[in-house]
Amino acid sequence: MTDEIPRAIGDSGRDLAAVVAGGTIDVPDFPKPGIVFKDLMPLFADGRAFREVVDGIVAHYGPDSFDVVAGVEARGFVVAAAIAYAAGVGVVPVRKAGKLPRQALSASYELEYGEATLEVHEDAFIAGQRVLVVDDVLATGGTAGAALELVERGGGAVVGFTVLMELAFLKGRERLHPRTVHALLTV
Ligand code: AMP
Repeated sequence: MTDEIPRAIGDSGRDLAAVVAGGTIDVPDFPKPGIVFKDLMPLFADGRAFREVVDGIVAHYGPDSFDVVAGVEARGFVVAAAIAYAAGVGVVPVRKAGKLPRQALSASYELEYGEATLEVHEDAFIAGQRVLVVDDVLATGGTAGAALELVERGGGAVVGFTVLMELAFLKGRERLHPRTVHALLTV
């Protein structure tokens, strides 16, 4: 037995991993029994931590490496919009079914808890536009796979996929292989 606190790990180093870990509350049995929901609202509400995380993601990809950020509904919107603003590019919402007002592409997938469909406007991307795709949490990888597929079907060129937190035991990274995943915190 040791009472040493395990150190956070992630693809942008221990310091950023610790920032994400420090801004997360584990909520057991939400939205259903057996699921531990990773609530990142405290991170979003902490201006300094949120800025560190957003700046860390922009720094990971480097200047002028993407033309637009696609964020997955709903918490992905928060992160995507901030990254887009910091990088001086636009943002494209990848939405749940039935929310978009115009002609959309759609992709269905299975979640850790249920099934869902994502959509994006069919004219959301300019052909060859470099797209960074972001979400809050990577679990089984179904959501990410559908979002990445939609970007490509829409004509975008995926430059990367970033999440604040990856739940490694659900093997989303393996499911998305050979695409690479950039996760600030891996638990
Ligand atoms: P998945 O498709 O299984 O990778 O699930 C990822 C999507 O579901 C992301 O959009 C997350 O916001 C959400 N999600 C799945 N599991 C969790 C969890 N344990 N805590 C918070 N969000 C989750």
